[in-house]
Amino acid sequence: MKVSIIGSGYVGTVSAACFAELGHDVICIDIDEEKVKQINAGIPPIYEEGLEELMQKHAEHHLIATSDYDYAVSNSDVSFICVGTPSGNDGSIDLSIVRAASASLGRAIAKKGGYHIVVVKSTVVPGTTEEVVLPTIEDHSGKCAGKDFGIAMNPEFLREGKAIYDFMHPDKIVVGAIDERTGAIVSELYQSLDCEVTHTDTKTAEMIKYVNNSFLATKISFSNEIGNICKKLDINTYEVMQAVGTDFRISPSFLNSGAGFGGSCFPKDVKALIGKAKDIGYDPLLLRSVIEVNEQQPHRMVELLKNKFDDGNIKGKRIAVLGLAFKNDTDDIRESRSIPVIAELLCLEAEVIAYDPMASDEMKKVFSNITYHMSAAGALKDADACLIMTEWDEFRKLDSEFGFMKNRIVIDGRHMIVPQDLEQDIDYVGLCW
Ligand code: NAD
Repeated sequence: MKVSIIGSGYVGTVSAACFAELGHDVICIDIDEEKVKQINAGIPPIYEEGLEELMQKHAEHHLIATSDYDYAVSNSDVSFICVGTPSGNDGSIDLSIVRAASASLGRAIAKKGGYHIVVVKSTVVPGTTEEVVLPTIEDHSGKCAGKDFGIAMNPEFLREGKAIYDFMHPDKIVVGAIDERTGAIVSELYQSLDCEVTHTDTKTAEMIKYVNNSFLATKISFSNEIGNICKKLDINTYEVMQAVGTDFRISPSFLNSGAGFGGSCFPKDVKALIGKAKDIGYDPLLLRSVIEVNEQQPHRMVELLKNKFDDGNIKGKRIAVLGLAFKNDTDDIRESRSIPVIAELLCLEAEVIAYDPMASDEMKKVFSNITYHMSAAGALKDADACLIMTEWDEFRKLDSEFGFMKNRIVIDGRHMIVPQDLEQDIDYVGLCW
């Protein structure tokens, strides 16, 4: 089939490359001309394992990019909206980018002869597809949904860092559509994947995505709260959760306590659901606590650090921050837990030396006033203490590098270090263990 993908960020680029791999002809649309050029040259605009190989394979043939909506719509049967849905000032969803993309799509659909399908892949609060996207397209196209064009909602569940694998090996595909014809065409795009399609209405599909992310975020905050209690009781929370996770009703995933969740989805999506719930007159107590626990975890790291110094004073201390990405295997720093930690360290007038295998360039845009090193060893040299913020595999192997520190104080926010296994003698503090 012929597919156009609006927005070449994480979801858009991964979907485009994977749809091309599944045998479809794909046109990416982005307003960022630099990304358009990169995609046409087979260069991924973001880092994802396996993405570069797919783009090199399909660029110029089955995968092209443009900023011209008319061209993309007239040369495709289905358009996926994959633009960002950030949080507004109060945490509620900001739909302005979705509205703008829908308006552009509407104007292009006005000029197209045949039937066209618009699929919302962006994460949007329940009601958005039918109450915002559909009328915007009707207004700008002068055409009628269900007759001249179809509308569907197809949420994306990929994990950053494993996005290509997740797209090609989904555990669920949800298609919410306004009519059977649209739902059937959208599911056809995925027919070569080994996964059944769940058909719903658009509102249910939108809600499934929020419930999925909110549940996972709740599991993490729950584990962090239990970890905080365990630490005070001198109980190893990892031992506790390993046993608890064997219960088939619970499962072992997402029970690792630590510095909290970040990324472009969990914090934003939980806040958007809170905002939607409040809009309809419901106060979501549990979801509000999920965010509150998550916001406290990074400060706990700094508290543990302060406890290691006289009067809790870290002014002028050289603190190595290992890990800037919100999780391993990505250069994405959005809502990374290292951001509030670095901000607090700077506020306390510490000297911050940071290292991340991939995300330093991104973090330089947020903090230009800290030092970045090319290696963990470089960041640790002469440090008064270090904080481990991201679960990069290479941090598990650190040992002799701790020997370069002035004081071998290691505050571990991700359960990465087993002090008994090290040759170096370190002063180790686990966040929740
Ligand atoms: P992103 O910010 O990385 O990318 C959005 C892209 O859209 C950018 O390249 C931007 O230039 C482009 N854009 C903005 N306005 C445009 C317009 N009018 N026309 C064409 N292009 C335009 O976003 P993302 O992380 O890929 O997320 C996109 C959506 O998918 C969000 O709703 C997000 O919540 C959801 N989602 C993200 C993930 C993830 O892991 N990142 C996972 C599942 C769902």
